[in-house]
Amino acid sequence: MVVMVKEAAFSWIDENEKKILEISDKAWGFAEVGLQEYNTSKLFADWIERQGFKVERGVADMPTAFVATWNNGNGPTIGLMGELDALAGLSQKAVPYKEPVKEGAPGHGCGHNMHGTTALAAAVAMKRAMEERKIGGTVKMYGCPAEETLVGKVWLVRHDLFKGVDACLSHHPGSANTAGTGSSNALNSFKVHFYGRTAHAAGDPENGISALDAVELMSNGVNFMREHIIEKARVHYVTEYGGGQPNVVPAYARVWYYVRSPEREQVDYIYNWVLQIADGADKMARTTHRVEFLTACYNVLPNKALCDVIVANMREVGAPVHDEGEIRFAEEMNKSIDPMQKKEGLRKSKRPGWEKLLDTLFDERILDDYQAGEVGAGSTDVADVSWVTPTKEFSTVTCMLGTPGHSWQFAAQGGMSIGHKGLIFATKTMAGAGLDLMTKPKLLKGVKAEFKERLADRKYKPPIPLDLKPPLKQF
Ligand SMILES: [Zn+2]
Repeated sequence: MVVMVKEAAFSWIDENEKKILEISDKAWGFAEVGLQEYNTSKLFADWIERQGFKVERGVADMPTAFVATWNNGNGPTIGLMGELDALAGLSQKAVPYKEPVKEGAPGHGCGHNMHGTTALAAAVAMKRAMEERKIGGTVKMYGCPAEETLVGKVWLVRHDLFKGVDACLSHHPGSANTAGTGSSNALNSFKVHFYGRTAHAAGDPENGISALDAVELMSNGVNFMREHIIEKARVHYVTEYGGGQPNVVPAYARVWYYVRSPEREQVDYIYNWVLQIADGADKMARTTHRVEFLTACYNVLPNKALCDVIVANMREVGAPVHDEGEIRFAEEMNKSIDPMQKKEGLRKSKRPGWEKLLDTLFDERILDDYQAGEVGAGSTDVADVSWVTPTKEFSTVTCMLGTPGHSWQFAAQGGMSIGHKGLIFATKTMAGAGLDLMTKPKLLKGVKAEFKERLADRKYKPPIPLDLKPPLKQF
């Protein structure tokens, strides 16, 4: 019975492939940065509304966020998440050499045009199958803005929009077909504004209070702190403003910090220490300061049972192979890729047999969980969802091996058939896994039991201040 249900979804995807790819390509062309994804959000929301979903727009104080819901009577609620945002400065044509559509404009260097379309199309495919086979349940598709600035899902969770969702799936473009139990770093992002007093830097420096001194003293303090925090933590900063010109004592200066660590409570600990260092900088430089909290997120709570159902569906669908034209495209693009960077990327990824992939263009295998126990150094707002409902973001091959993250090469492949293949494969995988969760109560029960076990009585506490609004302009 389940096989027939999935066939209904898969054949809907086959019949509508042209339309699905057209939506992805359109979003690719819009390439809007975080919380400015007005055209992309409208494209997705309008289309899914026409497919019979009830759409709530502008949720969680974010004009471009939406939730599309379709209900078919009693049954589980399965969530599918899709991204909207692009990256500044990565405008790129779908060609194997660097050529922007518009110099300096944003581009989909992280493939979120595919990310969003996968969830959108998989939700509708699930609906068609459930209608046809009379299966009860609810499908919820989330249009998630601003993944790149770690904002969208943190606020969606804060606004309780995943309440009642039994499990949540998400797809991220990449260079591997896999769903693993790795985690990610929790993070705080904040700026510290220091205030002093201006004076002539040569004429009467004794009257000046340098805000830049405070920034430098704070960063010095943080660099001494490093030795005494856990090795896995990451603290990075940029001085965003340090003054106008050398002969004026700067009355104002600003520094932007990220604090990351594998566990949320470690971030809290280090963050509080950094705040004390800022107080110390005030004492030394005689300044005052204000902390502007921007965003924060959790570490991913893995779920092996969810990973298994996704990988099983990948196997059922079968991973795409690349044709002559795609290989030629990749060969040409490979000229712009640093072999050492590719090697280090593969080594770090720990995928099985990575050494053998050094001279290969694509990894067309379906890989089992090879990231068990690993904590990726980066951070994701998917993590926050994973603490309120069992969640997995899986990846499919939408680019060749060695493609740098957030690059013009990533953007180029997402706008042509290499990306298209990974997108259709991901859509079928997501719809198939979603229908398994919808129709196999034992499976869903296992996923939920593991979630509870991993949570181990810990409770998700929003990592952002409760009254904080999402930053509608880029940070
Ligand atoms: Zn991304």
